[in-house]
Amino acid sequence: MTTIVRVRYAPSPTGEPHVGNIRTALFNWLYARHTGGEFILRIEDTDQQRIVEGALEAIYDSLEWLGLDWDEGPRVGGPYGSYIQSERKATGIYKEQADQLVRKGHAYYCYCTQEELEQMRKEQQRRKEPPRYDRRCRTLTDADHGARKGKPKVVRFKTPEEGDPITVHDIIRGDVAFDPATLDDFVLMKSDGFPTYHLASVMDDHAMQISHVLRAEEWLPSTPRHLLLYQALAWDPPLFGHMPMILGPDRSKLSKRHGATSTLEYRDGGFLPNAMFNFLTLLGWSLDDKTEIISREDLVRHFSLERVGKSPAIFDHTKLEWMNGVYLRQLPQDMLADKLAAALDSYIQNHQGSAQVPRSPGYLSTVVPLVQERLKTLNPQEVWDLCSFFVVELPEYDEGVTPKGLSPEVTRTALQATLAALQPLALFDAPTLEAALRPLAERLHLKPGELFGAIRLAITGRTAAPPLFDTVAVVGRVRVMARLAHAIAKLSDKKRS
Ligand code: GLU
Repeated sequence: MTTIVRVRYAPSPTGEPHVGNIRTALFNWLYARHTGGEFILRIEDTDQQRIVEGALEAIYDSLEWLGLDWDEGPRVGGPYGSYIQSERKATGIYKEQADQLVRKGHAYYCYCTQEELEQMRKEQQRRKEPPRYDRRCRTLTDADHGARKGKPKVVRFKTPEEGDPITVHDIIRGDVAFDPATLDDFVLMKSDGFPTYHLASVMDDHAMQISHVLRAEEWLPSTPRHLLLYQALAWDPPLFGHMPMILGPDRSKLSKRHGATSTLEYRDGGFLPNAMFNFLTLLGWSLDDKTEIISREDLVRHFSLERVGKSPAIFDHTKLEWMNGVYLRQLPQDMLADKLAAALDSYIQNHQGSAQVPRSPGYLSTVVPLVQERLKTLNPQEVWDLCSFFVVELPEYDEGVTPKGLSPEVTRTALQATLAALQPLALFDAPTLEAALRPLAERLHLKPGELFGAIRLAITGRTAAPPLFDTVAVVGRVRVMARLAHAIAKLSDKKRS
């Protein structure tokens, strides 16, 4: 019998989804799309204290940005809804199941208060024992329960105190055995009436007919508990696979210290969704030992759980930037021009002091071939730094107008001669400009690099810019002449002062 693949991504709305968390969504999505199965989105919001406002929207936005569409879940519905646990809780299903587990002898009510649990932990610490619930409520009699009627209580699962190891048959890691003695009598229902993650996750995976639970490695220690629950409920468990951790380049857990961790920060930082998609897939999965750039279609075609690795994956920001650059260069010229226009607009909106307006996408299409090799992201600041001199009337001359190695007088003479040499040109394209300016260096007794450096600085305000003649041609005759005149005037002012 072939299993119909039904996988799920089950985030908790506790903040903007971390890139590692979205990698989980991505692997589930890829597996569903590869197998022709279903990808389900379920919101696990049973820990009411940890809910962060706006987090739900951030989850939807992150998935949508990466094109991870869900077949069932919030917003789209489906036959097993609601797909939001707090809404499922309102129907009473979790409480009913927990009470039934108590009635059947698999679970019990526990009345221990926070203070008692704290006290218990302290004593265990003093005795150098591992901290755990000492099961004192497990043996309460009916009379004891009667005496505690009305007190806040939780439901705890009766974990076997000893016995055979519990083995998780993990699709990715193989068999992993857990000693039952190390498992606590974990809580199923909290005193606030909400189920814990363990109960809600198992019940919902079963109710939603999940075939494969593919989740991060950090959940592996929960899996033996889940298997015990499946056993107590007499349900067949799904298959489990735990994906490798994601570390920073220093091999510590990926965190803010390593740079942005929220998926949406990458969206807003000018990364392309397809580049991010490709990059995240390679965090724990590989096609072979060399291919880095793989299209979304090929990833869907080739994705397999067999090639998901066990060892931690390293989130290398430099590689992501490189990959984003590759994807940027693959964009059609006019599409990239539109994106440059949007990034420049956004830069200008955020820097109201600057009155200049970016040029049209049509004009920016001529800029694209000159900058695309050097573009890593569409971050407004990066795009501005790379392209602003193409769009403004006069560039900013932070570096002055005298290049290193030349005096202001020589620079002025060189720029005046340049102005005179460009004036009569009928054409203003790169070959014509080069033909006019190369011999000029010789006439001025300057090295070509010296003259070109002076022209570059006058026209772009930068010491480094894209190839000079192409740049001059794209900036265009009118602005080039104005900039040369402006630089000459600046140098003349200097001379007088
Ligand atoms: N709600 C859990 C999380 O936030 C889901 C763990 C699981 O996939 O079982 O990651």
